[in-house]
Amino acid sequence: MARILQSPVWTLIVIAFSIFISETIVMAILSFLPPISSQWSEALLDSTFLLILLSPMLYYLVFRPLLLHLKEYRETEQALHKVKEELEYKVVERTSEFQKANEQLTVWAKELEQYNHENKLLSQMVDYLQICVTSGEAYATITKMLVQLFPADSGALFIFKASRNFLEVMAVWGDAPPKAQMFMPDECWALRRGQPHTVENISLDMQCQHAQDETFTGYLCMPMMAHGETLGILHLRIGKYSAVQNAKQYLDAKQRLLSNVGERIALALSNLKLRETLRSLSIRDPLTGLFNRRYMEEFLEIELSRAERKKTPIGVIMIDVDHFKRFNDTFGHKAGDIVLQELGVLMQRHIRKSDIPCRYGGEEFILILPEASLEITAQRAERLRESAKSLQLTHEQQSLGPISISLGVAIFPDNGLTGGSVVKAADAALYTAKQAGRDRVCVAGTVSSV
Ligand code: GH3
Ligand code: MG
Ligand code: MG
Repeated sequence: MARILQSPVWTLIVIAFSIFISETIVMAILSFLPPISSQWSEALLDSTFLLILLSPMLYYLVFRPLLLHLKEYRETEQALHKVKEELEYKVVERTSEFQKANEQLTVWAKELEQYNHENKLLSQMVDYLQICVTSGEAYATITKMLVQLFPADSGALFIFKASRNFLEVMAVWGDAPPKAQMFMPDECWALRRGQPHTVENISLDMQCQHAQDETFTGYLCMPMMAHGETLGILHLRIGKYSAVQNAKQYLDAKQRLLSNVGERIALALSNLKLRETLRSLSIRDPLTGLFNRRYMEEFLEIELSRAERKKTPIGVIMIDVDHFKRFNDTFGHKAGDIVLQELGVLMQRHIRKSDIPCRYGGEEFILILPEASLEITAQRAERLRESAKSLQLTHEQQSLGPISISLGVAIFPDNGLTGGSVVKAADAALYTAKQAGRDRVCVAGTVSSV
C-alpha cells in the first residue's frame, strides 16, 4: 500500500475512488437516518469531502514520513539483525578458533615442557657419562638415565663383544625388558640395514629374530654409531599408551628421542673406550699385558697407607727367569718374548682379583698381594715356581726346554715400612735365591729356601 501511494497517479486515483466511496457511504447512511437538517447533512458531506481531500496532504505530511521512517526503521532493524547474526556467527567461529588455538597451545606447551625435561635429562646423562671411569660405571649410569627418559617403556642396551660376532646385553630397564641376553648381528634388522627399525604391528612388520619371543605391541631398534663404528643397539619396547594419542606421532616422538639418546650414549661409550685404551697403554706393559713398574709403585704407595690404617700386611714377590739370556741366544729374541708372555699368563692365572701382577723390567716380575701374610705369600711363590717349571713352551715347532724361576719374598711392614724398602727386601731375597742355585723361593731376612 505504501508503495502504491508513493506514485502520484495512483495517489490521485485512490483519492478519487475514496471520495466516491465515502460520499456514497455517507449518502447511504443519511438516507437511513431520520431526516436531519439539510444544513447538518451538507456539513457532514463537506467535512467528509474535506477530510478525504486533505487525506493526501495528511498522508504526505504525516503518514508517509511515518511510513518511510517505519520502513527505514524496519530495514535498519533487519540490517542490524543481520549484522548481529553475522557477528554472533563470527563470535562463535572465533571462539571455536580460539578454543582450538588454546588447545593447540596447551599441547605445544606440554610438548615443550616434555622436550625441556628430556633435554635436561640428556645433558645430565652426558655429564655423568663424561666422568665415568669404567664401562661398568657407564652402564649403571645409562640404566638409571634410561629409566627416567623412557618411564613408560622397557628396553635394553646391547653392545658388540670384542670379537664382533655377538651383541651382549649391558643395561636393562623397565617392567618387561627383553629376554635375550645375547644375539648375533644378523638377528637384528636395524643392524642389517644400518638404520632404525620400528615394529608397530608385530603381525605386519618385519620382526627381529632377537625379539621373536616377546609378546608386546611394538618396539624400536636403534643402531648406535660413533666415530664410524657401530657399537650396538638400543632396543625399546613400547609401553602402553593412551588410545587418544596418535600412534604414528607417538612412535615418531619415541624414535626421535631414542635416536638422540643413542647418539649420546654411543659417543660417550666410544670416548670411554678410547680413554680406557689410553689408560691401559699408560699403565700396562705391551708385551705381557701385566701392569708396568710405574703403576705398581703408585699402587704400592696407596696399598701401604691402607694397610697401615687397617693394620694388615702386604706380600711382595720378586720373580726373575733363570738363565733367560740363554733363550734369546739359543732360540732368538722372539722365543724369549714368548717365554715372558707365557709367564705373564701364568701369573694372571695364579692371582686373586685384588693382587697386582707387574712386569718390573726385562725378565723380572713383581707380584703384590694385599693382606697376604708371610706364610701365604711364600706358599703362593712356591706354587708359582712349580707351575713355571711345568710349562712346556714351543716356538716355530721347536721346544724351548724347561723354564725355571727364582723368587724373593718380602712382607710389609716386617721387611720395610715404605714401598721401596719392601721391594728392595724382596729383591735381596731374590738375589739370595739366585746365589743359592736358582729355581727356588727365598724369604727376606732369612737365608733358607722354602
Ligand atoms: P739369571 O739367571 O742370572 O737371571 O740370568 P739371566 O740370563 O736371566 O739374566 P741376564 O740379566 O744376564 O739377562 C737378561 C736378559 O733378558 C738380557 C736381555 O737381553 C733380555 N731381555 C730383557 N728384556 C727382554 C725382552 O723384552 N725380550 C727378550 N726377548 N729379552 C729381553
Ligand atoms: Mg734379571
Ligand atoms: Mg734372569
